[in-house]
Amino acid sequence: MDPLVDRLDRIRGTVAPRNHNARTIAALTSNPGCGRRGLMDAAGVNKGAVAGQLGFPAGFGQSRFAIARGNAFEAQVKADGAAELLQLLRDRLGLAIPEVAYDDLSNVGGNASREVRYARTKALLARAASERDDAGTLFDHPMLRLEIAGYYAYLEPDLIAFRAGGKFHVVEIKSFAVIDGQADPGKTAAAATQSAVYVMAMRELLAELGHPPESVSHDVVLVCPENFANRPTATLVDVRKQLTVLRRQLSRLTRLESILDALPAGLSFDLAYDSDQQATRPADELRKAVSTIDARYSPDCLGTCEMAFFCRDESAGSTSALGRSVRDDLGGVESIGTVLGLARGTLTPGAGQEEIAGLLRFAHKLRTECLDGIG
Ligand code: SF4
Repeated sequence: MDPLVDRLDRIRGTVAPRNHNARTIAALTSNPGCGRRGLMDAAGVNKGAVAGQLGFPAGFGQSRFAIARGNAFEAQVKADGAAELLQLLRDRLGLAIPEVAYDDLSNVGGNASREVRYARTKALLARAASERDDAGTLFDHPMLRLEIAGYYAYLEPDLIAFRAGGKFHVVEIKSFAVIDGQADPGKTAAAATQSAVYVMAMRELLAELGHPPESVSHDVVLVCPENFANRPTATLVDVRKQLTVLRRQLSRLTRLESILDALPAGLSFDLAYDSDQQATRPADELRKAVSTIDARYSPDCLGTCEMAFFCRDESAGSTSALGRSVRDDLGGVESIGTVLGLARGTLTPGAGQEEIAGLLRFAHKLRTECLDGIG
């Protein structure tokens, strides 16, 4: 076995790895300097379960209602060999898609292992790409993988890929509504970033097969419910900008080998589940293991990472807990106590802190004058 995979397996412990999806990769790139998240995601650790065992259960995620609504809408669009989706692609987007085959790749003859699914996906995409006429195939739940910080992350996509006009396209099905032709800009932007992850992963796979990147279109198809009904509508979204940002962010991720090199041998996040599936790992021991790895908490983590409440608690009193812009403005002063001491003049600035100390004293003077004026 690959020694890197073996080490990651030991760090994760006895449970099966959690696959990435586009949402988790997009979140990973939102804090590329965090080694803790990078390692936990690479090892496929269930961060939500770890946070819960540490006494800081995750406070974000889709509501059960939103998940159920999303699943129902997806099932509707994909019913009968994705008949409704095909109709949309032909009518709304004017794509000349011939009669199609529909391949569900969520398992291969009952085997749902990611390696087997990836191999099957690769074989089918290779066959489709090599046919001169359009193979006319919809690939549902293809298993993809993407190189991240020196390791391959498997992607558990909820997408359909299809080939038309000699190009592969990615279809993202989302349950947020398009009302009078307008969708929530934040949700549309998130969907575009997630689709860009899939475009990138499909391009990597096709590159392995000797096909150019352009064989996967940068125009993705976003399918959403229209107005207040559940009728689907499709829009083409150009994700070139998201691809550029993603590429840059992925290149900034800390390389996994350098994180692993600094870790003590035997480090593990195993929750030691008993026969009733109850985690038995003592919280103190787990906290010690998690704290071994450097984190870069910022308030943005609260919306993107299951470990956020733990990391926020851990970073209490540090300037990073106030956000990246504050931390950067205070360049090099890491504790809020030091900032206050420098501002009030009760602390002597250390080497290299003279300039920031002057600015802090000035800010403190202005604040005091304002408050005195109000008083
Ligand atoms: S919450 Fe913690 S582990 Fe997650 S990205 Fe933020 S600092 Fe890293």
